Amino acid sequence: MLDPVAWQGVAQEVSTGALPGWDRVEEIVREAHLRYSSERGGRVADYIPILAEADPELFGLAVIEVGGGLHDAGDAMHAFSIQSISKMFVYALAIQEHGHERVREIVGVNNTGLAFNSVVALELNDGHPMNPMVNAGAIATTGLIPGATPDEQWVCIRDGLSAFAGRPLALDDVVYSSEAATNDRNRAFGRLLRSYGRLDGDPDAVVDVYTRQCALSVTAHDLAVMGATLADGGVNPVTGERVVSEEVCRDTLAVVASTGLYERSGDWLFEIGLPAKSGVAGGIVAIAPGKGAVAGFSPRLDEAGNSVRSQMAIGYLSRALGLNLFASVPARDATGALSAPLEEK
Ligand code: GLN
Repeated sequence: MLDPVAWQGVAQEVSTGALPGWDRVEEIVREAHLRYSSERGGRVADYIPILAEADPELFGLAVIEVGGGLHDAGDAMHAFSIQSISKMFVYALAIQEHGHERVREIVGVNNTGLAFNSVVALELNDGHPMNPMVNAGAIATTGLIPGATPDEQWVCIRDGLSAFAGRPLALDDVVYSSEAATNDRNRAFGRLLRSYGRLDGDPDAVVDVYTRQCALSVTAHDLAVMGATLADGGVNPVTGERVVSEEVCRDTLAVVASTGLYERSGDWLFEIGLPAKSGVAGGIVAIAPGKGAVAGFSPRLDEAGNSVRSQMAIGYLSRALGLNLFASVPARDATGALSAPLEEK
């Protein structure tokens, strides 16, 4: 899936410095959409019953620049549930509240190497969830959100994620009810975390708040604005509102780089070179610090639960827009010559 050969011959902008001009970014986003709209690999998630009803052909892309430039292609305004992508933003809110050290101690920052819903991972690590992007760590993180009651915690999360998106996000009641009726495994995580002293209060109530955060309705465009807020050091580039501090963004992106695509995070970082977070409804958002964010939405997923088309399109965009964090010079072709900028081809 993350086959670097797929991007061979794609001319690459330099990773340091600025994005290409608005028109060029617009052209590249349209090209990415066209390139992968006929890809049909993967399967729509069905362990949350309502997700199985998604139209597998939906495909949206969005790029938001830290300077406020917006680029949408395809179904960028189609609403779907944020699912695990919420974990990244709730984690940022938790660090903002409790600070780097406390959250690191309770939730951790290392990859489990196992699936996002692995109970074995928790048991192998003496009840330490290891990181906030797997379900156990995300539930522990939701438990850290301020509020005297679960409802207050929910409002804090909903309003916080809305500030990242720059518009009021709403709960998708149908998705929430479908997941709440079937989330026995997540409730088991709640109990296990409490038994290991990593969750205070009623574990079912914390899991319920977590289930609501996963059912927030977003679009690929929203995800790109939310990601661009992290890329912009915590200031929403569309509304100008400061949502979290620069330090919180740096901490969040570091954890996401190593854990955002679960057990595939290493492959992703190796091929794409950007922190990114995925969700089982088909969304992925990748963040290029200081530049912007790239979001994809398409419901067919690979075995690890990551959208196939979104991964491919973001891979293409990372290369064509020069976003790979580890690249310090433009790509060279087989003869060793610098790849020509796309417009010269
Ligand atoms: N709400 C989903 C769950 O808890 C989120 C999982 C995901 O997007 N990977 O299983």
